[in-house]
Amino acid sequence: MQLHIENEVAMEQLGNMIAACLKGGEIIYLKGELGAGKTTLTRGLLRGLGYSGTVKSPTYTLVENYELSPVAVYHFDLYRLNDPEELEDMGIRDYCQGQAVCLFEWPERGTGVLPDADLMVAISHADSARDVTVSAGSASGNIMLGNLADADVFASP
Ligand code: ADP
Ligand code: MG
Repeated sequence: MQLHIENEVAMEQLGNMIAACLKGGEIIYLKGELGAGKTTLTRGLLRGLGYSGTVKSPTYTLVENYELSPVAVYHFDLYRLNDPEELEDMGIRDYCQGQAVCLFEWPERGTGVLPDADLMVAISHADSARDVTVSAGSASGNIMLGNLADADVFASP
């Protein structure tokens, strides 16, 4: 699915729409260079799940935990990861098992250790706006993509 996202508000809205499609346990990759809007989309997703607090970029902490009900959200930013093995050491498997939703910025840096994504969001600059491609990596991701397409208010013609 290809989307053209005009501004920060629309990016948060996309996060909100993704939140509405979550069942729990999803792995979501967020790709795109620095400033693409990965954390902005995550903020929208968290707002969609009822979280109204600050959404900090986990660039230095590697992960921010949001123990929301009914599903927890773990937001990773692997930009500063030196070695994918650090993920093993921090117990990545435990994070990704069960019903929590795991979001990964810079998933490329965790290649070989991260579980496969159910949903992949790739963001690129298009002047001051953004082009966004959402794709599925699993059966549940495909269902999400279908739901997103049905709810799609941004679709390019
Ligand atoms: P990343 O996490 O990918 O490094 P951020 O979400 O932290 O990026 O920052 C994106 C920046 O780009 C924010 O300052 C935001 O206001 C700005 N921005 C401009 N246009 C958009 C857009 N269409 N979508 C998302 N962010 C945008
Ligand atoms: Mg970020």
